[in-house]
Amino acid sequence: MDKKFDFIVIGGGSGGVATGRRAAQHGAKVLLIEEGRLGGTCVNVGCVPKKIMWHAAQLMHGFSDAEDYGFEAAKPLHDWGKLVARREKYIRRLNGIYGSNLDKAGIEVIAGQASMLDGKRVQVGDDIYSAEHILIASGGHPSWPEIPGAALGTDSDGFFALESRPESVAIVGSGYIAVELAGVLKSLGTQVTLLLRKAHVVKAFDDMLGDCLLEHLQKSGIDVVTNTQVEKLTEAESGVRAEFDTDRDAQTFDSLIWAIGRSPNTHGLNLEIAGIDVDAKGYVEADKYQNTNVAGIYAVGDVTGRIELTPVAIAAGRRLADRVFGGMADRHLDYENVPTVVFTHPPIGTVGLSEAAARKKFGDEEVKVYTSHFTSLYYGVLEHKSPTDMKLVCVGKEEKVVGAYNRGGRRRNAARLRRGRAYRGDQARLRRYCRYPPDQCRRTGHHDLMPFRTKNI
Ligand SMILES: Cc1cc2nc3c(=O)[nH]c(=O)nc-3n(C[C@H](O)[C@H](O)[C@H](O)COP(=O)(O)OP(=O)(O)OC[C@H]3O[C@@H](n4cnc5c(N)ncnc54)[C@H](O)[C@@H]3O)c2cc1C
Repeated sequence: MDKKFDFIVIGGGSGGVATGRRAAQHGAKVLLIEEGRLGGTCVNVGCVPKKIMWHAAQLMHGFSDAEDYGFEAAKPLHDWGKLVARREKYIRRLNGIYGSNLDKAGIEVIAGQASMLDGKRVQVGDDIYSAEHILIASGGHPSWPEIPGAALGTDSDGFFALESRPESVAIVGSGYIAVELAGVLKSLGTQVTLLLRKAHVVKAFDDMLGDCLLEHLQKSGIDVVTNTQVEKLTEAESGVRAEFDTDRDAQTFDSLIWAIGRSPNTHGLNLEIAGIDVDAKGYVEADKYQNTNVAGIYAVGDVTGRIELTPVAIAAGRRLADRVFGGMADRHLDYENVPTVVFTHPPIGTVGLSEAAARKKFGDEEVKVYTSHFTSLYYGVLEHKSPTDMKLVCVGKEEKVVGAYNRGGRRRNAARLRRGRAYRGDQARLRRYCRYPPDQCRRTGHHDLMPFRTKNI
């Protein structure tokens, strides 16, 4: 006989766990099914391990900057294996915390692969479960190209599985995961080649960020190869040999990482049996309320392909649970103006529309852009400088800020933009807000105000 619940959640990652817990808070009887480790991508092979590696890389930058700040210290030796062991221990603890939080919320958790039997029933192994409401929060996985020998490479999951630091790595891709992994590896001593299909990075963001970042990656010693694709991989004596679609000579690397995008986890879910629509790329189609086309079946997070970030999956899921189980009829996530950080060295913070998108949306005459390029105080005494670049995109007479970007300086500014605190309001309010706290505002002395200049007034 079917075991009955109010709500079945497929996937114990960021979105699934948050939605299940909020539904349970509203009194729903919840079943959560997870085929892997609780916490999903973010905890196990995404944000969490990445940020730990990023912190290690930042420390390495700190050590090299320290000398110019008067410290005399031996060059640090880094033990990659030790860091990975400590990181994994921390992640296991998080897995346990996720489990106990679900337990405390009264949610039944089942380990196994879920597949749909119809619009109300889900199967795991030989067992069948039913509910009036079912959530698909099955996330995504790294995409791989279809070229000969592709399997000799690895992906971001494989990067986190590395037990020792490779001496040379090629990273294929131009998105945020590609540039973040490139930065970590380079900072910790690996020779990095970044292979770009075209000539830009992070093209989802404003052009200024991509241009500055590309220049910085090159200056940091990363070999950035543009307009090139890998055509074939073969085994080399140690590592992998890549052949290219240009006249560039074949090259051997200890490891090659595919970071060319992600695809939805829908395989094995039997979505077609339940009649659930997916788009051309296989993402589950969901409206602004996270409804799929089948009544009582919802989707949140990466499996929907909309802004693939943990806080987005969590926020969409909590609002869905509030709506379905908490009686809040119109609760839904607004997907506009989601702030983002790219964990490069230094990091990037962005929120809102790119300049190009604003011009397209509002017309050239309505858009006013403020930019600033300077070296922040921290770098004043350093031999190695890293410029800060900022941009505000404003619209209309009242100069409403519709986009804000920051690259460089210290981490605080990216974090501020991510929290969206520096964003709300018009340009004048933002100047007031930024007058003191961010170090960028103290360009030459502590009363040097927000250093934005207008472009094309
Ligand atoms: C390298 C990397 C770095 C990242 N860095 C950041 C960052 O800094 N900040 C940020 O916000 N986001 C980051 N992300 C993105 C973030 O991890 C995802 O957006 C987030 O995890 C999506 O949550 P989700 O619940 O949709 O899916 P997931 O977290 O992927 O969870 C889905 C879960 O469903 C399970 N599952 C799949 N199919 C089934 C099935 N049939 N039955 C049972 N279980 C199933 C999977 O095992 C998985 O545990 C990063 C991602 C990567 C890869």
